[in-house]
Amino acid sequence: MNTDRLSFEPALLPLDEYNQLLRDHVHPPNWANPAPAGRYDLVVIGAGTAGLVVAAGAAGLGLGLKVALIEKSLMGGDCLNVGCVPSKCLIRSSRVVADMGEAAPFGIHPPDHIEVDFAAVMQRMRRIRAGISHHDSAERFRKLGIDVFLGQAQFVDGETIAVNSNRLRFKKAVIATGARASRPSIPGLAEAGYLTNETVFSLTERPRRLAVIGGGPIGCELAQAFHRLGSEVTLFHKHGHLLDREDADAAEIIQQQFLKENLNLVLDVSLERVEATAAGKVIHYSQMGMAKSLVVDEILVGAGRAPNVDGLNLEAVGVAYDRRRGVMVNDYLQTTNPRIYAAGDICMDWKFTHAADAAARIVIKNTLFSPFGLGRSKLSDLVMPWVTYTDPEIAHVGLYEQEAQAQGIETDTIKIPFSDVDRAMADGETEGFVKILHKKGSDKILGATMWPATPGK
Ligand SMILES: Cc1cc2nc3c(=O)[nH]c(=O)nc-3n(C[C@H](O)[C@H](O)[C@H](O)COP(=O)(O)OP(=O)(O)OC[C@H]3O[C@@H](n4cnc5c(N)ncnc54)[C@H](O)[C@@H]3O)c2cc1C
Repeated sequence: MNTDRLSFEPALLPLDEYNQLLRDHVHPPNWANPAPAGRYDLVVIGAGTAGLVVAAGAAGLGLGLKVALIEKSLMGGDCLNVGCVPSKCLIRSSRVVADMGEAAPFGIHPPDHIEVDFAAVMQRMRRIRAGISHHDSAERFRKLGIDVFLGQAQFVDGETIAVNSNRLRFKKAVIATGARASRPSIPGLAEAGYLTNETVFSLTERPRRLAVIGGGPIGCELAQAFHRLGSEVTLFHKHGHLLDREDADAAEIIQQQFLKENLNLVLDVSLERVEATAAGKVIHYSQMGMAKSLVVDEILVGAGRAPNVDGLNLEAVGVAYDRRRGVMVNDYLQTTNPRIYAAGDICMDWKFTHAADAAARIVIKNTLFSPFGLGRSKLSDLVMPWVTYTDPEIAHVGLYEQEAQAQGIETDTIKIPFSDVDRAMADGETEGFVKILHKKGSDKILGATMWPATPGK
């Protein structure tokens, strides 16, 4: 065993029994990295969804492959620790608040006063996150026969990766280092301090006044959740409409819903600077040429994702990348170095857990089962569904109308109102739609979007 010290000790706050359990699973403090094998068949950098699926898939083939998995922070990556799991826990609690307030049409008297115990909401989240973390634990992956290294990985040359003082030699490598919140360059923001998805789930006290920067899926989901949990939320978005990359009809329903809930929307905004004062963090902004300001207690930034390309020394191995779009890959998820592949948020526009999982499966096939490039799987063969977990939720799969038009495909749309669907009537969700985009004059479905309206609204 190698007693190399871990290079990166992540803060999991508060360090209560749940976060201790989580830490023991995903970044055990007493973890000793193994002595590296002679040469690995596969070295995977990053133990988020993509990296875990590649490593477990390759090791589980029963072919006796030598596989190493390197994680600098928390096994499980964003999804388990600071993404899907904690955000969906908060959203669930916030929905209970909304459902209680809207119980009357269902024949149930809503309470006069709904008291949110924010600390208990966050504790529930930590309990659930810790409870499922054993699936992604370092120990579980070690037992699968994988050499798990905790530390920061960096390419040394075309066949060597360094992790702390260890040198791992590889036949093939996979970059699965994910993405992080983009840091907007607003003067004074860094000095005033702000939250991102990496820190917001460590809160134990509800921010009384919260500004959310970014009206994309992450910003909208968290803005609505915090608003329902009792924060005074102001959502700043630089474009004229929330969720502007979604189906326009669906995005409009969400925007109207936010306005009905009295969530303060500031659209078409330019954020000028932030100032820390005794009264709070003052956000100076301009909207339609008018200078304005707002005082808040916390600022949550959810305005895009930046790929984790730094520190990997990709230049040394000829892997081309772009600071905005990440590692460049071809349709087979192969980088510009043919022995190095990539999967997940580091290289894909689809920044979803199930997309990272699907990409990882493609990588397993293309790295290990495609001799001379025969029988390789392609990313472009995937049909990717996704959901934005606002309330109402938006579910989408396939092409949007404008994308089909850009490809020169003539389309028609079928729109089915939920008021025609018996099940939706039973749920009190009669205001939404299913919209199906198909090729004109054909029954070939190109894409679909679905958004039920919230009960009682
Ligand atoms: C708030 C939020 C909510 C989300 N909700 C959903 C959802 O509901 N549904 C959904 O499908 N998706 C959701 N996502 C997206 C989802 O979390 C990501 O798409 C998914 O985690 C991507 O997996 P990945 O393996 O590519 O990257 P990651 O999960 O980011 O894992 C990458 C790992 O690589 C490690 N790493 C980075 N650099 C190095 C290095 N040099 N050496 C060693 N290790 C390194 C990182 O520490 C990290 O653990 C959400 C994301 C956020 C932020």
